[in-house]
Amino acid sequence: MMPLPPSFPALPPFPPGEVWLTGAGPGDPRLLTLLAAHALRSADDIVHDALVDPRVLDLARDGASIVYAGKRGGRASSRQSDINELVIARARRGRRVLRLKGGDPFVFGRGGEEALALVRAGIRFRVIPGVTAGIAAASLAGIPLTAREINHAVVLVAGHRAADGASAVDWQALARTGQPLVLYMPMAQLDEISAGLRRGGLAGDTPCAIIQAASTDVQAIVVTRLSEVAGAARAHAISSPAVIVVGDTVGLRHEIASGLAGWT
Ligand code: SAH
Repeated sequence: MMPLPPSFPALPPFPPGEVWLTGAGPGDPRLLTLLAAHALRSADDIVHDALVDPRVLDLARDGASIVYAGKRGGRASSRQSDINELVIARARRGRRVLRLKGGDPFVFGRGGEEALALVRAGIRFRVIPGVTAGIAAASLAGIPLTAREINHAVVLVAGHRAADGASAVDWQALARTGQPLVLYMPMAQLDEISAGLRRGGLAGDTPCAIIQAASTDVQAIVVTRLSEVAGAARAHAISSPAVIVVGDTVGLRHEIASGLAGWT
């Protein structure tokens, strides 16, 4: 890591027996926070999700134990309760446990559930924010999520219908807010989402941007309209992870992107 000036706040020691619930950002390792990089360098155990780039894990110190605890192919290969138990057991053995999640740990990442499990187990922990994928994806695509003359709020919404029985999203109500939507995990329900938003009053020609694997080598951006979004995703063979931004600020992209330098 770059040397920090003396005026810079000290990076805190990682005490044995603590858990640091940390966001790894959207993909590119350079979007880690300084605290996340510091945690990676200090941890004894790193328990990470599927969306964490392998190059991020290269920051781990020699001898650190790296444990994969994510989902493969949309199927939970580790149950949430098993992950909680693993993290808690290691902390109780006095290990410094970094729980590393894609994006921000508290945005659609079950970080809240993990934090509560730690509280209930009496384990001390920190939460280190990360750059959440939806916001990073929009910025990288040249889409301002807010623009003074267009909107005053942004909605982050989970597009999948949770397999664990969480209640369905009211797409019509979201359409009526008139605010841009950032859809996480949208791919499986795209036809239904687009129809629901139009039933709620959003025009079929509302601009949409599909952003696949933002900040990675396979980043892809497809700009389309709400009525065509599902077909466009299929035509461009968009795959997860992807977010979709729906709303008029997407229209600013055309001009902004013309001046964007490449992301390498
Ligand atoms: N906690 C994470 C979100 C986890 S949910 C965060 O704050 O970003 C997983 C979803 O995040 C994916 O289905 C996708 O919608 C989105 N996502 C994660 N990484 C992404 C990326 N690099 N580009 C686009 N979307 C991404």
